[in-house]
Amino acid sequence: MNAPEASVRLAAASALGALIDQHAAAVEAAVIGWRRDVHAHPELGNREFRTAALVAEHLRALGLDEVRTGVAHTGVVGLLKGGLPGPVVALRADMDALPVKEEVDLPFASKATGTWNGETVGVMHACGHDCHVAVLMGVAQVLAGLREQLPGSVKFIFQPAEELPPEGEDGGAKMMVAEGALEKPTPGAIFGLHVTSMLPTGVVGYRSGPTMASSDTLRIDVDGRQTHGAAPWKGVDPIVTAAQVVLGLQTVVSRTIDLTEEPAVVTIGAIRGGVRENIIPDHVEMRGTIRTFNEAMRDDIHERVTTLAEAIGRGSRAQCRVCIRKNYPVTVNDPALTEAMAPTLHRVAGPGRAMVVPKVTGSEDFSFFQRVVPGLFVFLGVTPPGQDAKTAAPNHSPRFYADEAALLTGVRLLAHLACDWLAAHPTAR
Ligand SMILES: [Zn+2]
Ligand SMILES: [Zn+2]
Repeated sequence: MNAPEASVRLAAASALGALIDQHAAAVEAAVIGWRRDVHAHPELGNREFRTAALVAEHLRALGLDEVRTGVAHTGVVGLLKGGLPGPVVALRADMDALPVKEEVDLPFASKATGTWNGETVGVMHACGHDCHVAVLMGVAQVLAGLREQLPGSVKFIFQPAEELPPEGEDGGAKMMVAEGALEKPTPGAIFGLHVTSMLPTGVVGYRSGPTMASSDTLRIDVDGRQTHGAAPWKGVDPIVTAAQVVLGLQTVVSRTIDLTEEPAVVTIGAIRGGVRENIIPDHVEMRGTIRTFNEAMRDDIHERVTTLAEAIGRGSRAQCRVCIRKNYPVTVNDPALTEAMAPTLHRVAGPGRAMVVPKVTGSEDFSFFQRVVPGLFVFLGVTPPGQDAKTAAPNHSPRFYADEAALLTGVRLLAHLACDWLAAHPTAR
């Protein structure tokens, strides 16, 4: 592309930008309506049947060129081909809710229940994925209405089971990738957003590089030998061994990891063992989580946790069996893409309302998409004016509250990111 062509293309992009804002304002009421509907009817991971049907019906009604359903169980992938030649960009929203009983007083509060790993539970969009679904449905409507001016194609990815599928099931972004969500056509970039209580309504947070942690599940089984609580020398005490393991694991991050490089977390969140005060049991089971921001450090910590727990077990004449299940990789925002798109984030959010935010030790399976194509994942504040974002009920709380005034910013954000990226990559077909 020569210089005059580039300037024509950029002028067209800025005209398109103004139209996006008009169309986004026109769709805002519908987006709020969809969000309330999805909020009132939350569905757990791999069970997003109603939500997926709503999405698929909407995309078909908009006349998208392709709408694939049943991707990774309940996922929906839509493709909108623009009227002008250009590359392909992808936008992603997750659709699943959490096993949380809603405590927010809203006319459309969830009364739903579901089954989670065999237990009946309340179900709530406590992570705000209802907002993500509604926002992306709105973006699809905005861009479908402007398709003649669109310089390329947009892939809409509605993903199930971001919060991990139920035990024993596959699902989520990893499975969507395996089932070809990023093929035919392969996008040149992918964008996603997450609503957060940690920022005020409409404020956009982002960072380059490692942004959200890897997340892995740790399980340690300590085998001892049961005996009378009054005569511990006649057996092997797995409870004392477990206690040593818990304390020993605290040294993995604090004493052996170079914390000037990246932070990391090793947490034991559950310990189960024993039935009464005067019996030393045979067995203790511990469960925990490991978070890192660097794949090499991730492997290193896994190795250290395993060898340390096994060695403590040997030293106590017990046996520690360590099992670490890798869940989500580090969410890494592509530095070049982040730098290129930062002006869009600032322009859409408005002066002083887009900012670089600290790393988050939570995790996101958006990382699986980023392993295939460069991706940028940003945060959108939903804590209303008058509330302190530092103390507002966080995502996953039964009192998590999303201010719907942020949704319009969400629609504009993803629509502008897609169009600006398409306009800037005319040859990347
Ligand atoms: Zn979540
Ligand atoms: Zn989430």
